[in-house]
Amino acid sequence: MEVKTRFAPSPTGFLHVGGARTALFSWLYAKHCKGQFVLRIEDTDRERSTQEAIDAIIDSMKWLELNWDEGPYYQTKRFDRYREVIDKLLAEGKAYKCYCTKERVDALREEQKAKGLKQRYDGHCRDDHSEHSPDEPYVIRFRNPDEGVVAFDDMVKGHIEVKNSELDDLIIQRSDGTPTYNFCVVVDDWDMGITHVIRGDDHVNNTPRQINIYKALGAPVPVFCHLAMILGDDGTKLSKRHGAVSVMQYREDGFLPEALLNYLVRLGWSHGDQEVFSVEEMINLFTLDAITKSASGFNTKKLEWLNAHYMKTLPAETVAKELVWHLNRIGVTDLSNGPDPKLVVKNYCERTHTLKEMAQKALCYYQEITEYDPAGVKKWMKEGSVDVLKDALATLSALTSWDAQSIDSQLEIIAKNREIGMGKVGQPLRIAVTGSAMSPGIGDTMMLVGRDRTLKRIEKAIEHFGA
Ligand code: GLU
Repeated sequence: MEVKTRFAPSPTGFLHVGGARTALFSWLYAKHCKGQFVLRIEDTDRERSTQEAIDAIIDSMKWLELNWDEGPYYQTKRFDRYREVIDKLLAEGKAYKCYCTKERVDALREEQKAKGLKQRYDGHCRDDHSEHSPDEPYVIRFRNPDEGVVAFDDMVKGHIEVKNSELDDLIIQRSDGTPTYNFCVVVDDWDMGITHVIRGDDHVNNTPRQINIYKALGAPVPVFCHLAMILGDDGTKLSKRHGAVSVMQYREDGFLPEALLNYLVRLGWSHGDQEVFSVEEMINLFTLDAITKSASGFNTKKLEWLNAHYMKTLPAETVAKELVWHLNRIGVTDLSNGPDPKLVVKNYCERTHTLKEMAQKALCYYQEITEYDPAGVKKWMKEGSVDVLKDALATLSALTSWDAQSIDSQLEIIAKNREIGMGKVGQPLRIAVTGSAMSPGIGDTMMLVGRDRTLKRIEKAIEHFGA
């Protein structure tokens, strides 16, 4: 049977790290088994679901390239189908209308609480055949079996067994006519042919109830795999308090999708001691039995390390694509006005830790510089520096081939002739052409700035500092 997994987020906020890990594991397992991956938006909670959150989820999935084979399905577009299944359950006596008022249910709970009993619905309306007026509100409850146990073998948690006597009759349709999560999820997974349900372990307690609904529908029960939660750097449940937890925030902060995916896969899955995995490798190696049982801890340092690793080792073209996104964000829309971003990546991948930082550093290659870094100026613009700039302008203007090596050798001659170190030549020039005293080798820097712009900037600096 073909494996089919799904990611089924509720669009009530951005896609956070925990959700992204669930999506990744579901996607990886489908890919590993050469199966299918479905994206389903669980938007039945209309008050809390927003279009903005849906967009954020889809954007994040696209950025991570967790491509889905089917969907996105929206639960709000499937109400007719849920209605149809509920009608069938009603007709078969597997569900019933419950007219109990809120007051009655609340009073029942209070009474159970006072007696130290488990709080649950008492089945009062199960066999209530009394007449009700059409405008009397009701909910629909699933008739949970009274006896026996519900058992399943979770791929992570192991064997789980719950007595039916512990479960009450779940509401599957609210009084406003909308179906509830535990019901919709079953109908969807059944209709969509989901074979493996991989999700956060906050849903473990829902699973026995859902299994009873599958059985009542005569639907095959999927394999369940509940992932242990992710803890923050400080060992408490990962939350907004821990800073950037949204996937798109990581993008904005300058992380590569490859780094985030690699980081996420290690949050609850392992393959020996290996830390670095290409997506290809993850797909080949990912199996459910290697998912760890205990909660995994978030480690920002490790993510940063992976990001630096991928910035250096991925093809410059891949990194450049992400760099362009960052450049756009800070106002560089016309790249024709500067170097090929691949060259920026090659020169900066060892010197910066994030793409956000790289884009900032690269601004001087695409936009005019508006100021000179005061600390750099103080340190390097000394007596004689303007003469060095003048020498450089003269020799570089005559240079026929504008490449790093030719530039460097011309500047070395200047240093030699003036009997000064290369620093005293390179640094004033760096300030002149980039505005700051920090950049790659001076030849490379000038190559990135471009010939005409370099010469113009040196001229301008001579005017500025020579006055
Ligand atoms: N919509 C649920 C959530 O976002 C997930 C349901 C499921 O995966 O079964 O928590």
